[in-house]
Amino acid sequence: MVYRIKENSLLARIAAWKLNSKRVAIVFGKTIHLCRTSKEELLNDTRWFRHELKHIEQYQRYGSARFIFLYLREWMKKGYENNKYEVEAREAEEDQSNH
Ligand SMILES: [Zn+2]
Repeated sequence: MVYRIKENSLLARIAAWKLNSKRVAIVFGKTIHLCRTSKEELLNDTRWFRHELKHIEQYQRYGSARFIFLYLREWMKKGYENNKYEVEAREAEEDQSNH
């Protein structure tokens, strides 16, 4: 899968501040934006990396604009944890074939 990793991303910094969390990875299109973490840390954490790759696949499945719309609609309806795109990404963490 084609992906890019952007460290010290402003977008991720905003997300980290909003979510009040330490390390953040947030995907836009094919790029994984990181804040308070590094490319190395992400790549060494197989489960975390698989999770973010699943989001890239979701962007490709629906197209960027449509996926952002669908994701936000899901988030508003079900919140972050139960959002079906997050559920799918969490399931991918366990998937040995998806790496
Ligand atoms: Zn996620």
